[in-house]
Parts: sequence; structure tokens; C-alpha cells
Amino acid sequence: TKTSSDTKKYVIATDTTFKPFEYENEKGERVGIDIDLLAAIAADQGFEYELKAVGFDAALGEVSTGQSDGMIAGMSITDERKKTFDFSDPYFDSGVVMAVSSSNNTVKTYADLKGQKVAVKTGTEGATFAESIKDQYGFTTVSFPDSANMYEDVKAGNSVALFEDYPVVGDAIASGVPLKMVTEMEKGSSYGFAVKLGQNPELIEMFNTGLANLKANGKYQEILDTYIKK
Ligand code: GLN
Repeated sequence: TKTSSDTKKYVIATDTTFKPFEYENEKGERVGIDIDLLAAIAADQGFEYELKAVGFDAALGEVSTGQSDGMIAGMSITDERKKTFDFSDPYFDSGVVMAVSSSNNTVKTYADLKGQKVAVKTGTEGATFAESIKDQYGFTTVSFPDSANMYEDVKAGNSVALFEDYPVVGDAIASGVPLKMVTEMEKGSSYGFAVKLGQNPELIEMFNTGLANLKANGKYQEILDTYIKK
């Protein structure tokens, strides 16, 4: 006999565009490291889920209000977030970096941001980092719901720089977005799968066991190699 937990279909929230972790390919399919990793872990552990691509800040809201059971969205594991979320084991090491337009030859350090506008994405570690140094360096921040809008704002010359995760900016530059990184990576952190604090503990357990299995059988590396070209 099946118990209700056997048939439960989890709702997992994710970001809309956070390439190479989640994005829509030319065929309109949702793909990326997070998407493939979750699919492989669910297959390994035998659970069902439905993806809800709502954007990063919206995904945080979905999980904290219980509308979604979990989230995978290149989400950094931070002490602050541990007050509201339970995290899986880390599955990818990342960190925040500053990027400017590829044609900008004047902004090379945070001090060069004085009196300028800087684009950030609501609710992210990049935004938290920018807020933490903006008074010291005398710049203001402009918030956007997603990476694409941040890139546009810098391209348009409204914001002079943006703060975003290193692998995502790297992917954008490799895909032809006219940006460049001018500083070293800041604030290293790792990505984790998350649930609301104290809720769906079995999901975290299955994610961790599945992740360990995929690391052992080579599938984890295969997924990374699909999306990160050396
Ligand atoms: N890693 C960053 C964070 O957790 C950004 C995640 C995202 O934009 N999807 O805040």
C-alpha cells in the first residue's frame, strides 16, 4: 500500500533566468544545472515535483509562506537565511562579483562608483553586498527583479555597474552580453536547496542522499560539464 508521502507532489520554486543554473533554452524548455540536478535527484530518490519559475525574490516568498515546498535557484547558504530556511548540503561554490559595461574604462574599483548608480537584484546576496558598502563608497543602488533587467540597465548606461554571482556573469559574458568583471570575487558562498525552516525535512534528506549518489556515480559532474564549458 502506498502512503500519502509516496504520492505527494512537491512544489519547487525557482528563478526565471539565472543561466547556467536555470533558464529557458531555444526550444522553450526550462534547463540548467539546478533544473537537471533536481530532476536527477528526484529520479534517484523517487519523489515527484512540479517546478514553479517565479523569480528569485518571489521564490523566497513562496517558500517562506508555504506556497512552495522547496526552492532551487542558485540560492546562497547564509547565516541570515538559516533563520527562515533549512538548507541541503552545498552543491556549488559561488560568490558575488562587480561587473561594468565592456566599454567602460573608468570604473575599476569600488571607489570609482562614487556618485553613481549600481544595479542589483532584489533579495540577493549581490544586493546585500552592495548595500553593505554603498555608504562607504558613496553610490546608490537601483533594484531589479531579474538579471536580464540589470544587464540592460548597465548597457543603457543608467547604472554604471552591477553586482551578481560570478558564474552567472561569466556565462553572460561568454554568451555575448557586453559586460566585464573588474574586481576579484567577493563574499564566497555556496548554493543549497532550501525548504522553510522545520518543514519538509524528508525533502532535504532526499536531496542530500540523491546529491551524494550523483556525485558518486558521475552524474553530478556530467550535469556541470553540460552547462559549464572549460
Ligand atoms: N546566489 C544569490 C543569492 O542567493 C543569487 C541567486 C539568484 O539570483 N537566483 O542571493
